[in-house]
Amino acid sequence: MINFTYARATDVADAVRQIAADSTAKFIAGGTNLIDLMKEDVERPTRLIDISRLPLRTVEETKDGGVRIGALVPNSDLAWHPLIEQRYPILSSAILAGASQQLRNMASTGGNLLQRTRCAYFYDTATPCNKREPGSGCSAIDGFNRMHAILGTSDACIAAHPSDMCVALAALEARVHVSGPAGERVIPFADFHRLPGDQPQIDTNLKPDEIITAIELPAKGFSSNYTYLKIRDRLSYAFALVSVAAAIEFDGNRIKDARLALGSVAHKPWRDTSVEASLRGQTATQEVFMHAADLLLRNARGFSHNAFKINLARRTIVRAFAQAALGTPQSQSNKTIR
Ligand code: SF4
Repeated sequence: MINFTYARATDVADAVRQIAADSTAKFIAGGTNLIDLMKEDVERPTRLIDISRLPLRTVEETKDGGVRIGALVPNSDLAWHPLIEQRYPILSSAILAGASQQLRNMASTGGNLLQRTRCAYFYDTATPCNKREPGSGCSAIDGFNRMHAILGTSDACIAAHPSDMCVALAALEARVHVSGPAGERVIPFADFHRLPGDQPQIDTNLKPDEIITAIELPAKGFSSNYTYLKIRDRLSYAFALVSVAAAIEFDGNRIKDARLALGSVAHKPWRDTSVEASLRGQTATQEVFMHAADLLLRNARGFSHNAFKINLARRTIVRAFAQAALGTPQSQSNKTIR
């Protein structure tokens, strides 16, 4: 582990000032990913700026009927917050499917968005990795790639984004509030994370001198017909092979609106609005959901160890939508795939 200095930010403006003044500094909040990366010598900040005491821990209603979540709200507090449980249960469900209770108690909302891939080669400094060391190559493309992406990959990187919470935020069309030297701006969730392209070392469109201050949810929470379905190798404390956030709004027996986002299949939470558009006006049948799944996966590409994820994703989408249509959210303890 390298030596680093430690500083505490007194407010958001001070945090921005400190990070803008030192390109080798990193913010630390819960530290649930950064400390691991530092121990493995993947991240080497010379300065840690502690933002954990900034006043960004509130969950409050907005004037337009949505909810604003402070960036430092712990994942556990967010999952169990009455506003989230009642109006955005798909978000509660996704958060509780992730990590462990201890990690959820420490991890912050903003930090969840910034966690890095769990590609084993990224954490192994003895192997080439374009994300860790640009230009060195990708060990996963011809290596053990069972957990890796099947959509939006590039010749430089096939890593998958590991978050559960972000899949629900993508489905809900959250917005990310950030602050930087140029002031404040809002990033639609779909534009926050990047595909790897030829710069896989850059995970998000957050600038190095910006800080996330809040996540905003729009009024519509799909609280009646939703499912977050996570398929993984063991029941808890495991990253997803495939996860699906599916939500439906009905008008009679017709689908008025639908949302579909997938996790662990791409470098970012994967959402395709053309698939959602294809569902509007349809009835909730297996055939309709199978068509939606095929449409979403039309450009999926498997690698030597993960081609099974294409069919797994197809079946998980159909089951998630079927359960959402019935209004019976998936129990995380029931992993039967029909
Ligand atoms: Fe690195 Fe991405 Fe390749 Fe993994 S998939 S080894 S993170 S470049």
